[in-house]
Amino acid sequence: ASGAPTPSSSDNIRVYVRVRPPSSREEANGAQPCLDVLGGQTVVLSDASRPDPFTATFDRVFGPEAGQEELFAAVGAQMVENCMAGFNSSIFVYGQTGAGKTHTITGDVARGEDGALAEQCGLTLRVFRQLFDRITDEERDGVRYTVKCSYCEVYNEELSDLLAAPGTRAAGGLAIREGDAHRGVCVEGLTEHVAVNADDVMALVQRGSANRHTAATRMNERSSRSHSVFTAVVEAAEAQPDSGVTQVRFAKLNLIDLAGSERVGKSGATGEQLTEAKSINKSLTTLGRVVTALTERQQHVPYRDSRLTFLLKESLGGNSKTSLVACVSPCEDSAQESHSTLAVVNQDT
Ligand code: ADP
Ligand code: MG
Repeated sequence: ASGAPTPSSSDNIRVYVRVRPPSSREEANGAQPCLDVLGGQTVVLSDASRPDPFTATFDRVFGPEAGQEELFAAVGAQMVENCMAGFNSSIFVYGQTGAGKTHTITGDVARGEDGALAEQCGLTLRVFRQLFDRITDEERDGVRYTVKCSYCEVYNEELSDLLAAPGTRAAGGLAIREGDAHRGVCVEGLTEHVAVNADDVMALVQRGSANRHTAATRMNERSSRSHSVFTAVVEAAEAQPDSGVTQVRFAKLNLIDLAGSERVGKSGATGEQLTEAKSINKSLTTLGRVVTALTERQQHVPYRDSRLTFLLKESLGGNSKTSLVACVSPCEDSAQESHSTLAVVNQDT
């Protein structure tokens, strides 16, 4: 690439990079930084194993100093507007384990006694707080809104409901059906929960995230080996003044915390680890192909090649808006993984 930075993607797909600050462990180990952010759109990775620095340009690159509010203003707020305008939209966080995906999408969901958001509160709660503010405005103009939330997890190509009552989780996972034009893709038996404010959403996020851990035998590990998808279906009903007929619009909003993109056990992985690695690879590779097919306007989009992309079919493509936030560690010991993260989401080429 030469000349002025060009936006890396189409209008409907935006790709962002977030470089997190070094962790206290990295600092204690004297880890060297290997990433530079230039002009807010370009990231340069220079590490000892590479003769030349690797450079890539994105819609925007957030450096270590970028806070949660800044991320929301740049990535989350437009999603709310898209939703109010009737478009499906999704935010994905991508990257190796420990790169900042969950921090970015969820962060600290605790609320102060005065109801204030924690400074480290992530995109989800900020998005829903704004969404409910906008809904309140519109309801003054006579539009009635219903927000129905669901929260599921894709693990080893199986889908499970993170908000199902304890003991009711279906063995073998929930089935995805391609419904009619009106209903679109639906998950059989996935529970839906009406939320009337951002606190309801926060409670659902907390409950579901807790299930994500307790459902696992290997506790912390599983959460980085699965994808979680928080979805809200926003229904807007408006009575037409002339006919008296009520018109109903739907828009879906998805917030997706992807499994860690690191290559696990390239050699010698067996059993459960190998199954996990294969299914993660399959869904992340398919997601990459779907995004490429959409940006290049290819005829065939391989939604059906993974559970995740099939689940999100109607939120990827068409008039849907997609934001991908690639999260990377700033330090040299993660350079290899950071390079593959940036290379996967880089759309310069
Ligand atoms: P992932 O979900 O990608 O595995 P996490 O979001 O759990 O990674 O981040 C790993 C650690 O780094 C967490 O303790 C998190 O709070 C911290 N962290 C990540 N990104 C940031 C950031 N931008 N600013 C401050 N701390 C961060
Ligand atoms: Mg995480």
